[in-house]
Amino acid sequence: MSFSNDGPVHPQQPETRLVTAGRDAEAQKGFVNPPVVHGSTVLYPTADDLHAHRGEYQYGRHGTPTTRALQDVLMALEGPQCAGVGLTPSGLAAISTALLSVLKAGDHLLVCDNVYRPSRNFCNGLLARYGVETTYFDPLIGAGIEALFKPNTRAVLTEAPGSQSFEMPDIPAIAAVAHVRGALVIDDNTWATPLYHRSLGQGVDISIQAATKYIGGHSDIMFGTISANAKAWPLLAEGIRLLGVCAGPDDVYLALRGVRTLSVRLAQHYRSGLEMARWLQTRPEVARVLHPAIETDPGHAIWKRDFTGASGLFSIVLKPAPQKAVDALLDTVKLFGMGYSWGGFESLVIPFDCGDYRTATKWAPGGPTLRLHIGLESIDDLKADLDRGFAALKAAM
Ligand SMILES: *Cc1c(COP(=O)(O)O)cnc(C)c1O
Repeated sequence: MSFSNDGPVHPQQPETRLVTAGRDAEAQKGFVNPPVVHGSTVLYPTADDLHAHRGEYQYGRHGTPTTRALQDVLMALEGPQCAGVGLTPSGLAAISTALLSVLKAGDHLLVCDNVYRPSRNFCNGLLARYGVETTYFDPLIGAGIEALFKPNTRAVLTEAPGSQSFEMPDIPAIAAVAHVRGALVIDDNTWATPLYHRSLGQGVDISIQAATKYIGGHSDIMFGTISANAKAWPLLAEGIRLLGVCAGPDDVYLALRGVRTLSVRLAQHYRSGLEMARWLQTRPEVARVLHPAIETDPGHAIWKRDFTGASGLFSIVLKPAPQKAVDALLDTVKLFGMGYSWGGFESLVIPFDCGDYRTATKWAPGGPTLRLHIGLESIDDLKADLDRGFAALKAAM
């Protein structure tokens, strides 16, 4: 029996790998997709097999045909540096699992000041309690990070760009220093996904996705993934095993379903996001657009060097306006829902203030800040919606 799209050799282009990887129709009597395997116990046919732990699967927590398919797609997407992929029940769990896997009491951790706020809470809370010291650094520090290293610095956590302020750290420069100093680089790559930012090829040792966002893509799962290179994977695999981390089969399946269409969804988010960002630059109500794919953005040169695309998430700084005027905008727009998370098919808007929590750098944007996620709606409808929002903002000034 042979099914033409199967096989271990994947063509080179990532869009193709997203479609062909992780498929084994022969094992599924010809069906394209694996079943959603709900399973704990795996039966061994003989005592000899049991003693030798022989067989492709040993126990539900350690993997099923559904998790294997998703891991194979993600491995193919990350590229040849990827030695293994772990699946977690949320993006935050991917970050905490990665940190717990590589750190021990007495270690020092360097964390970029623009990382996802709950990542900071984990460092300041649980890691501090377990005897790991964290130092935050300016996202624009580059090779200057050298001065912050201590003899016990074991890891660096980055996010490029930060998902509120959109500053773009120079990850290859940071990684070069980290590797000389014997530290591992962990990158939260949720914004660009491995499709637009091959972080493992740029000095990152552990690349994390909040797959809740673009991998899932439909605002219907909580999910996380951890991809690691050959140097970091043994630590990760051990950490995952010892912690007992695994993800539920229905969510694994939805992540697999989502990732198959990642390239078309992300291309549209990129196109619409950039068009909206350029349109907002021309609006009199907007002081600044924070989007690294815009030529005038301070992070543009790094984005152009290290990324092949952008997602649909960016921020704007409004000209000074009272809270009630900003609230009038938020209450007027209808296609832009107000809510946390992003990466689904729908547009979102949320006010934010990094000044609440940053410690290594000052956040003084000079006006109210809004984060926008540009979904898959018609860009003309979205502009018209924001147009109504700006009219309401002006009326309430
Ligand atoms: C949402 C998000 C996370 C956390 O993901 P959850 O699935 O919500 O736990 C981590 N990092 C970034 C950049 C995120 O946007």
